[in-house]
Amino acid sequence: MINKKNKWSPADKIQDLQFFGEYGGVNPSIADSSTFTYLSGKTMGDVFEGTREGCYLYSRHTNPSTSYLSKAIAEMEGMKGAIISSSGMASITNTILQICNYNDEIISSRTIYGGTYAFFKNYLPKFKINTKFVDITNIKQIENNISKKTKAIYCETISNPLLEVSDISRIAKIAKKNNLKLIVDNTFTPLIFSPAKLGADIVIHSLTKFINGSSDTVGGVVCSDENFIEDMIDVNCGSAMLLGPVMDSYKAASILKNMRTLHIRMKKHSENAYYLSKRLTSEGVKVIYPGLESHPNHKIMSQSHNKEFGYGGIFVIDTKTELNANKLMEKMQKTNLGYLAVSLGFYKTLFSAPGLSTSSEIPENERSKMGLSNGLVRISIGLDNNIERTYYSICKCLKEIGIL
Ligand SMILES: *Cc1c(COP(=O)(O)O)cnc(C)c1O
Repeated sequence: MINKKNKWSPADKIQDLQFFGEYGGVNPSIADSSTFTYLSGKTMGDVFEGTREGCYLYSRHTNPSTSYLSKAIAEMEGMKGAIISSSGMASITNTILQICNYNDEIISSRTIYGGTYAFFKNYLPKFKINTKFVDITNIKQIENNISKKTKAIYCETISNPLLEVSDISRIAKIAKKNNLKLIVDNTFTPLIFSPAKLGADIVIHSLTKFINGSSDTVGGVVCSDENFIEDMIDVNCGSAMLLGPVMDSYKAASILKNMRTLHIRMKKHSENAYYLSKRLTSEGVKVIYPGLESHPNHKIMSQSHNKEFGYGGIFVIDTKTELNANKLMEKMQKTNLGYLAVSLGFYKTLFSAPGLSTSSEIPENERSKMGLSNGLVRISIGLDNNIERTYYSICKCLKEIGIL
């Protein structure tokens, strides 16, 4: 029985998915084919023409395994459709190339994932697509940069490395008013944020991170309404079809299974990050975490996230200098606290120094005002069972380099 008083939860949407395998298997069968047969030539022609739906044609378009995964993620995001791709970057680049034409403009947060930033800044100018980088927490700045050429606003729910939180509801209102698409990268916060519920038109994930959670594959997804997804896989002019970033069936099946435990993992990641942030802060360590009341966007996050999943599994320690940052990370790896590696959302802790590479748009004096130091260490906390034990190990490392 569904209790109407129960609030909508993206985790319930995943829970309620019922996919049977070919012989009644409890997991859907894996599609082991690149192409699909037809009993009649006419039906095949109709599928090509787009006048007949519900048939698989060729796996660059869609196949049963990627379809199950896309359905699961669309449900989780409360959106009508989704298209899986071979990487988060493929999902991002395909989305932008679907929306923008020659001479168009995008407004983007200036603190976004490094690859996305490089694509906007260095690659899109080939097509005379110009990006205006803004401080996404400054609504006036977003509005002031809208021109006749603007097609979309792009941001991340929580950004690197300062973990700034986008006020998606407010940005969505501006997007609607100006007839722009709001694209939100939700990679850091699956389940924690439901950007479509807050007004986003397109939600993107790198599946490589939390959603898969086992750092064994790279993948991406774009969620949106049916029209946009159909446009993206259109045989004649869809970016996802023509640029061809498909995911292999076996990987899609594997990610789908991992997704079934996403809610438990996100809660644990958040619980661990909150515990460490709180305790380290009280010891006088400079920690950036949106779950702390001292974080400038704590209130915005508290008003807009799905509370049961917490404030996320990523926090940042400011060690002041690059030298300290490197020393800390090497010590933490030696202590088996985790790995000195890029990426995030793994069951073991991963840490890296985000540096200033993606923040080069930000003038020097503003950087220090923002708290963008060279000594930042980004920690994606793992699913550690005894987080107090982890805390004491981190403290020991911090003491050894003179930060505690
Ligand atoms: C990793 C990441 C991406 C890129 O995803 P890939 O799967 O590595 O291509 C995009 N956005 C964010 C926020 C990321 O962390």
